[in-house]
Amino acid sequence: MKTIYLDNNATTPVAPEVVEAMLPYFTELYGNASSMHTFGGQVHGRIEQARAQVAELIGAEPEEIIFTGCGTESDNTAIMSAVESNPAKRRIVTTRVEHSAILNFCKHLAAKGYHTTYLPVDTLGRFNMDALLESIDDQTAIASVMYANNETGVIFPIEEIGKILHARGILFHTDAVQVAGKIPINVKQLPVDMLSISGHKLHAPKGIGVLYVRKGTRFCPYLIGGHQEKGRRAGTENVAAIVGLGKACELARKELSKGTAALAALRDRLEAALLESCPDAVVNGDRENRLPNTTSISFEYVEGEAILLRLNEFGICASSGSACTSGSLQPSHVLRAMGIPYTAIHGSVRFSLSNYTTQKEIERVIEVLPPIIRELRSYSPFGRDKFEQYLCRLDAARAD
Ligand code: PLP
Repeated sequence: MKTIYLDNNATTPVAPEVVEAMLPYFTELYGNASSMHTFGGQVHGRIEQARAQVAELIGAEPEEIIFTGCGTESDNTAIMSAVESNPAKRRIVTTRVEHSAILNFCKHLAAKGYHTTYLPVDTLGRFNMDALLESIDDQTAIASVMYANNETGVIFPIEEIGKILHARGILFHTDAVQVAGKIPINVKQLPVDMLSISGHKLHAPKGIGVLYVRKGTRFCPYLIGGHQEKGRRAGTENVAAIVGLGKACELARKELSKGTAALAALRDRLEAALLESCPDAVVNGDRENRLPNTTSISFEYVEGEAILLRLNEFGICASSGSACTSGSLQPSHVLRAMGIPYTAIHGSVRFSLSNYTTQKEIERVIEVLPPIIRELRSYSPFGRDKFEQYLCRLDAARAD
C-alpha cells in the first residue's frame, strides 16, 4: 500500500535532488570548513554557496543568514539575543498560538523574572492588533509573532505588526518555519529584524535551521565556542545538511515562481468535498488568509485519534489537534486559544499537502474518509449532548 502523506507541516520528505546534492559531503568531501587546507576550503566554499541560496529565497543578503541546528534553536536564539542585548528591557510579547519552541522558551524566561505577554487571537485564529498596541511599552525587548500558524495555516499581518513595533523601537522576530517555501518571503519589504526557518519543513533534512538577522541588529550568540558562522553560532558546521538546505531553497524558489494556485486548488478540493459529504464538519481558521497547503477540519462528535488510526489503515497520514496525538496531555493550545468548542477540537484533523501531493491521492482521501466518520459516529455510545461532558471529564482526567 502506497502511503498518502498529508502531514507536511510536521515534516516533509527530503527532495531527491537534495539527497543527491548532500551525498558527496558524507563520502569524499568530509573536510572541516575551518581547516586551512584546500580540502577544507572546498567545503567552506559550498557552505557559502548554500548561504547565498537560502538568502535568495527570502530576499536577504548572504551575511544575514546564520545556520542553526533547527527551527527551535533559531527561535530560542532570537529571543535570547534580544533580551541579552537589551538587558534593561524585561518584557517579551508573543501570541498564545506560537509553536512550543517560542511558548516554552518564554515560560522558561518568565521563571527567570522576565515579563511575558501572550496576545489573544479571535475565533478565526486572526491576530489582534489592538492587543498588541496595548501590550507593548518601553520595557519591551522583543515581540515574537509567527508568520503563519502550523495548525490552521492562518497568516498573520507581519508587515503591519513590524511597522508598529519599529515605530516604538522594539525588535521584531517572526517564526517563518511554516512559511518558507510555501509562499514568497521578501525580508527587504518586511519590517522584521529576525526570522526563523527549519530545513525539514521544505524538503531539506531534519537538524538544520536558519536564523535571518538583519544587518545592523544587535546580536548575542546562543551557542558559544568556536568562531563558526562569524562567531554568531559556534559548532562545526553540519555541511551536508547545509548544502541540502541550500538546494531545497533553490528548488522552492523555482516552485514558487510558478505560483501556489495549483496547491491551493488541491487543498480546496479536499476541503469542499469533505465538508459536503460529512455533516457537522467545520474548517478551523481564516479561510481567506492562510497557507495554500493547510486545512484544519473539525469533525464534531468523533475523536481525532480514532480518525487518524482508521486513516492510517488506508495508508493515509494526517495529524490531529486532540490530546494524545499532539504528544501532550492537553488538546491543541491553538484551537483552544481560538475558542473552538471542545467537541470540535477533539475531532480536529489537519491535512497539510506539499507540491508532491497528487490529485489521485486527494481523491482517495475523499473516497475513504466520509465512511470512516459515519462509522465512528455510529459506534459512539454517547448522544451528542453528552459528548461534550465526556470530553471535559476526559481532559480533566488526563491533566491529573
Ligand atoms: N516553529 C513552528 C511554527 C513549527 O511548526 C515548528 C515545527 O513543527 C518549529 C518552530 C520547530 O522547528 P524544528 O522542528 O526544526 O525545531
